[in-house]
Amino acid sequence: MVASASCFCLGFGALNTADLAQAETRLGAESGESVTLRHVAYAPMEPVFQTAPALPTGRPDPARAYPAAPVSISLPASKPALAEILPTSTKLIGDMIRQQTGLISNDEVILRLRAGEGIGALLRRAGYSPNDIASAIEAVSGKVSLRRLQIGTIFQVAPEGFRFSTKPGRDIYVISHPESGWLALSALRPVDRYISFFQGAIDDSIYKAAIAAGVSEAAFNEYIRVLGFSVDFQREVRTGDRFELLYEVERDGIDGKIIGGQLHYAGLLLSGEQLGFFRYNGDNDAIGWYDENGNSAARTLIRTPISGARLSSSFGHRKHPVSGFNAMHKGVDFAAPRGTPIIAAGSGVIREAGWKGSFGRYIRIRHNATYDTAYAHMTRIAPHIRPGTRVKQGEIIGYVGSTGRSTGAHLHYEVMVNNRQVNPMTVRLPTGERISDQHLEAFKATVAAIDREVLSHGTIRFAGAVPVKKAQ
Ligand SMILES: [Zn+2]
Repeated sequence: MVASASCFCLGFGALNTADLAQAETRLGAESGESVTLRHVAYAPMEPVFQTAPALPTGRPDPARAYPAAPVSISLPASKPALAEILPTSTKLIGDMIRQQTGLISNDEVILRLRAGEGIGALLRRAGYSPNDIASAIEAVSGKVSLRRLQIGTIFQVAPEGFRFSTKPGRDIYVISHPESGWLALSALRPVDRYISFFQGAIDDSIYKAAIAAGVSEAAFNEYIRVLGFSVDFQREVRTGDRFELLYEVERDGIDGKIIGGQLHYAGLLLSGEQLGFFRYNGDNDAIGWYDENGNSAARTLIRTPISGARLSSSFGHRKHPVSGFNAMHKGVDFAAPRGTPIIAAGSGVIREAGWKGSFGRYIRIRHNATYDTAYAHMTRIAPHIRPGTRVKQGEIIGYVGSTGRSTGAHLHYEVMVNNRQVNPMTVRLPTGERISDQHLEAFKATVAAIDREVLSHGTIRFAGAVPVKKAQ
């Protein structure tokens, strides 16, 4: 019977369960505490415009270019003018009808497009006359392709007009104007942005704490990716270590749905060591994460090229439980469910990809003249991965399995320096690049803005050298 996953690639006859147990319980043993979440504090959400931090944003928000009040358009308006000045979408279709025509429209129903149904049939269901349907369709057909409407598309329908959406952030209004007849216009849905800052002590898992605090999976993965260059989350994080995130949420201003988000600051206090990285969005050549001095968070290699894994066997001498024979484990094992994606630890060229004896399905990547990495026991190699393929850091190259001499699903991972295996967890990895001089000033302004935001919550920024006020 095999209880846990490990390698036989060293010629072991059986699993060294003692080592595994040690690796798995280290955290709990040292803390002496049960794994419950002790403290996650996060400030209530506040609209960005109240605190007005000059934070960079992932993409320009066209809605910000327009005043909060709806832009009034004198009708009949020419089409070019409508295309140039989009009004802001309203909560109710009746509000837009009133703006555009001055008419009061109170009755509105919500209808979903049924399978096999066109917009004409839907409007018939809503009680529109054949003439109105024909005119409305003629007006809207210049705006969107009605053939590509998806089943389930929601229509808000009033007697004098209706609204639907074909892309996020945008509404199409089709309105009957008493003088100019049926017309269609696009409107931008208002977007609210909120800054959310939170921090916590790690008792159980950063993941649980962050998700509980409202961070999206994508932003959390980015947090782990950014800090993962410097930190081995499986082994280095201890109970009592603290994390901080500054996160921006974008919400649809009408229905309140979260439509986007962006991590701006990732901080970690690790056994007294302070780490902090800032997102910078200068322009194409400078998007990235940097410490406060502008050193890139990225290293040439990622220490843990798999997410959600648990270190199940570490590098170094292991004693065979039966024979007592000592052998060297020349890599580290990460236990993870079969099929978990494995990513390239660094950019490079595939040197080997295929079956390799006791390693099972195996990939070796050459990163540069000094560094290679290898990945073994995969259930499957990603389809495009062949010797000679160029891969980028973070690209999925294969999936966790138990092929070759292996007792359970795990990744056996090796780092080679000048063709000699070293401990992936402790090898000193060269740092990435520094932010270019031309961006340094703007980057420092970004850091200052984030600092102001973080400090306004009465907490410390771990990367800061300056002592700051204590939380109340
Ligand atoms: Zn191994």
